Amino acid sequence: MVVTAGMVAVVAVVASVDMVGTAGTDGPWKMVQNLTIPRAGPFSGDASVAGRALPWAPDHLRHATGATQAKGDRSRMSLMQNAHAINADLHCHSTVSDGTLSPRAVAELARDAGVAYWALTDHDEVGGQAAARAAAEEFGMRYVPGVEISVTWAGQTVHIVGLQIDPFCPDLIDGLTNTRTGRARRARDIGEALAKVGIEGAYAGALKYVGNPDLISRTHFARWLVDQGHCATIGDVFSEYLSEGRPGFVGHRWASLAEAVGWIRTASGIAVMAHPGRYHYTDTQHDALFDEFKSLGGGAVEVVTGSHTPDQYRRYAEVARHYGLLASRGSDFHGPGEGRVELGTLPPLPSTVTPVWHDW
Ligand code: AMP
Ligand code: MN
Ligand code: MN
Ligand code: MN
Repeated sequence: MVVTAGMVAVVAVVASVDMVGTAGTDGPWKMVQNLTIPRAGPFSGDASVAGRALPWAPDHLRHATGATQAKGDRSRMSLMQNAHAINADLHCHSTVSDGTLSPRAVAELARDAGVAYWALTDHDEVGGQAAARAAAEEFGMRYVPGVEISVTWAGQTVHIVGLQIDPFCPDLIDGLTNTRTGRARRARDIGEALAKVGIEGAYAGALKYVGNPDLISRTHFARWLVDQGHCATIGDVFSEYLSEGRPGFVGHRWASLAEAVGWIRTASGIAVMAHPGRYHYTDTQHDALFDEFKSLGGGAVEVVTGSHTPDQYRRYAEVARHYGLLASRGSDFHGPGEGRVELGTLPPLPSTVTPVWHDW
């Protein structure tokens, strides 16, 4: 076999993908052979995405077009490489839910970070979708309409992201409207619960941080508590006051898993299990959650997210393969400096999984 410069570049990107993946000890060529090839059909994406360079792809992939793609096996391999090399950030928030920036400002940051495929996934709300799409198109990113739905499953909260949804779908809009109902009541109860441990005025305080009156979240309380000096960080507020079992926690029943997946599918979208590494289920419950998600028609799982450690990237890459789910990648960005990672800066997906965007 003649090894060309292009092949070496492919190996280079596979090797970088596998820094977080399951490279094993076989070396880069073995990794290339082990690639999961997506289902048949041409890669409909454009690796250069409206002329924008992909910062981490080798040169021959950055500027690849349909016309210049190689044929046969090499083409299939490079299709998969293209998909993994795309900087997709498919999970983040704006002031329409509990983020600190407008949809347009989030889009600007995504563009600056070199994001090529971008989804705004506000909690239980699609009110930011039109502004997000307009900004993404202006900035040369491919826009992926999204949402993150709050679900109660086995007594805990699970989040289901919907991607490629039709944000005008009446069933989805009605379902989300019902899911949001109750947030205001819960927020007043959180205020009262905090007052019992000596923190007065939290409800009124949190309201000042709310961008969408329909969507008051624990995050708004957390920002107020930090600014009032009760805790140093938002994470500290959750562990001290707002997480389950803490004095400011107020339980709430969200949508069912079947409802959330159903609304997303009715809206022609793909349901994605969000940040599964964050849930506190037993192994049996964990498996039952994925079994049910899969049988309801769930299509993907977040593997690389701001909520996962590198060990969890590997664990959920295995889960994706076990359940035949596609893999997603998203920062869960809420505002500059607030989370563990900034927009568009996560490592690529492990090469063993098929990106949810492989055929977009
Ligand atoms: P809510 O939907 O009002 O219950 O709020 C959930 C939101 O709180 C999540 O989407 C996160 O933005 C935030 N959150 C939950 N747990 C934590 C945590 N431990 N640290 C920081 N933010 C958290
Ligand atoms: Mn949030
Ligand atoms: Mn979430
Ligand atoms: Mn989120």
